[in-house]
Amino acid sequence: MELTILGTASAMPVRDRHFSAAVLRYEGAVLLFDCGEGTQFQMLRAGVKSPRIDAVFITHFHGDHFYGLVGLLSTMSLLRYEGRLRIVGPRGLAAAVYATPGLGRNGLPFEIEFVELDEGFGRAVVYETDAFAVTARPLEHSIFTAGYRFEEKPRPGTLDVEKARALGVTDYAHYRALKAGHAVTLPGGRVVAPEEVVGPPKPGRSFAYVTDTRPCEGGRLLAREADLLYHEATFTEDRLERALETKHATAREAAAVAKAARAKRLLIGHFSARYADLEPLLIEAREVFENTETAEELRRYVFESVAEEKT
Ligand SMILES: [Zn+2]
Ligand SMILES: [Zn+2]
Repeated sequence: MELTILGTASAMPVRDRHFSAAVLRYEGAVLLFDCGEGTQFQMLRAGVKSPRIDAVFITHFHGDHFYGLVGLLSTMSLLRYEGRLRIVGPRGLAAAVYATPGLGRNGLPFEIEFVELDEGFGRAVVYETDAFAVTARPLEHSIFTAGYRFEEKPRPGTLDVEKARALGVTDYAHYRALKAGHAVTLPGGRVVAPEEVVGPPKPGRSFAYVTDTRPCEGGRLLAREADLLYHEATFTEDRLERALETKHATAREAAAVAKAARAKRLLIGHFSARYADLEPLLIEAREVFENTETAEELRRYVFESVAEEKT
């Protein structure tokens, strides 16, 4: 499981920064969060193949988060995308995509499942598989905006092989059944319950994507105990007035969200074009939340593996 931040710029283009987008790779799944203009090129540099994308999650309709989507769909069409693409975002998303000449309902050779969020929604599970779920919550920005949280489902606990053996379990299929939470009956008739040999389930790994927004309840809930929180930090605290005006967060505020939510690690991004040097943002955030980094485009942030723990 790993995250690649593709863009850390905010509204204005900057020579060395790109518009908002982040890719989460989880086993076979590829999830794209936001799709600002130029995202495709950053995907190429990051080694993400567009035909592999399973779902796209758009936070809001500001161009720096959204204007890359049409180009991406066009490329996926040329590459004969064969999956079933899910696109999640604010109400009006499907209409916006289909209004693009050439991308009308019959213009794309593959199907899109749109999940549209309505203003005033509280919480919604917008994508789910056997292994993980993605939840959306409203944020607080100048237009309707949603943040997202990826959460792996709890993993089975550790199987105590010695103990299982002592109880007479020798069959590999029985080990697997116990680990999956099923009781097994041994040849002699003894029933072994999973609780006897398997430890408590391990919590899954989580990632929260919170941009663009003022610090808010939705952001804190998405970030709760997240292994990795990406939170916008458009300004430093001395520009708080500007942050309030444009409904963005300062680095200090982003760090306060991470702290209140007890997130484990914070990446700040969505930097205003005024900051050529990001050090002041980092220093400010670290005063509140030590484990902060400025998001680095194209770097891979790897989540500690739960699956690799010894059984
Ligand atoms: Zn933005
Ligand atoms: Zn915005």
